[in-house]
Amino acid sequence: MEKRSELPKEGLPNGTTAVHGHLPARTANPSHALTTPIWQTATYTFANTADLIAYQEGKLWGGTGGRVEYARYGNPTVRAVEQRLAALEAGNLPGSYDALLFPTGMTAITHILLSMLPTGSHVIFTDDSYRKTRQFCQTFLKRLGIESSEVPMGDYDALAAAIQPNTRIILTESPTNPYLRVADLERIVAIAKQHKRIKTMIDATFATPVNQRPLTYGIDLVIHSGTKYFSGHNDVMAGVAVGEAGLIHALRQSQGMLGGVLDPHAAYLLERGLKTLALRVQQQNRSAQAVAEFLEGHPAIDRVWYPGLPSHPDHAIARQQMGGFGGVVSFEVAVPPGQTALDAAARVVDGLKIPYIAASLGGVESLIEQPAIMSYFELSTEERRTIGMKDNLVRFAIGIEETADILADLEQALAVGEQ
Ligand SMILES: *Cc1c(COP(=O)(O)O)cnc(C)c1O
Repeated sequence: MEKRSELPKEGLPNGTTAVHGHLPARTANPSHALTTPIWQTATYTFANTADLIAYQEGKLWGGTGGRVEYARYGNPTVRAVEQRLAALEAGNLPGSYDALLFPTGMTAITHILLSMLPTGSHVIFTDDSYRKTRQFCQTFLKRLGIESSEVPMGDYDALAAAIQPNTRIILTESPTNPYLRVADLERIVAIAKQHKRIKTMIDATFATPVNQRPLTYGIDLVIHSGTKYFSGHNDVMAGVAVGEAGLIHALRQSQGMLGGVLDPHAAYLLERGLKTLALRVQQQNRSAQAVAEFLEGHPAIDRVWYPGLPSHPDHAIARQQMGGFGGVVSFEVAVPPGQTALDAAARVVDGLKIPYIAASLGGVESLIEQPAIMSYFELSTEERRTIGMKDNLVRFAIGIEETADILADLEQALAVGEQ
């Protein structure tokens, strides 16, 4: 892809890292199984009391080896997947990076905000982000005496102006849901760096490290919902944070207290999914670009939101920052006279045969939804308009079906919609 020349010189991680993690591969497990065993245990044993005391004094395994005494503090299956994720996200950046897994993406986000924001502090987040994240800031954090400011995505003057002496975190998302806005990571880091105590955090679920590597721009913490592209099969929930090892260590310490740990079965499924991450995402990139171009030229469509299109407001920064533009395409259906916007979009959604009508994204199956009905149903059309969530908007999360089949399906569904 010619776009790569503009990407950081470390490049993007490839299928090799997805399949193997760091090379050379980690030492064989005791059974010499190729795959990571599911270490299904709630606790760990000590040979005798002297061993336990040696462990407590940090002398067992020379104080290393990841030995813990209880499964809330760690699990070898989970640990193996964390190392693979750190390798994928950090690549060969200088310095020491680590990853921490959580049972869901939301646990990752809430755990980090609760752990890092003291009462009386302040967090800034960009709009058009995951709705539950915004709601968490505006309700839970507020109750704990932590203030938040919402700034428009792409308005870097507003971002700089929102910084207060007590600001501790700038939280962004890129690409965003559902308008696929792309944050200028270099600018965000530059703004944050003018203030000593501000950490930058990004929810990069929609991009995956196959398409974008925020750590190379100096972002402190990268969050993903592992439920989406990482696991990739719509069958398991997980979340992950990747960052500098010291920061991740501190978050791991608080995980022992807050208790949101990933189950080893789920970790195994996540690792299985990760092995095909690069293949899947590249196919989804290709299909989404083709779908976006097809829809943009179609008379039944008013507007297409995809960062791979020159018409997208963030196309220029996406080209510099991303190796591919992801598998989600959002579009506004033209509303024929006599139809409501909700109905016009619903006719297209209902006319499609391949995608399931379902929330979520990033799996092998294509999924489609109207945000107005799925995530913003309790709001009125008027309220939705105020927050920019249009009734004729459709979010299409493309799977790994054949591109030609997806295009043909859209063609027939839009023809039906026109009648
Ligand atoms: C799904 C999603 C989340 C939440 O992740 P869960 O695994 O569902 O808790 C957060 N951010 C983004 C961008 C998401 O798509």
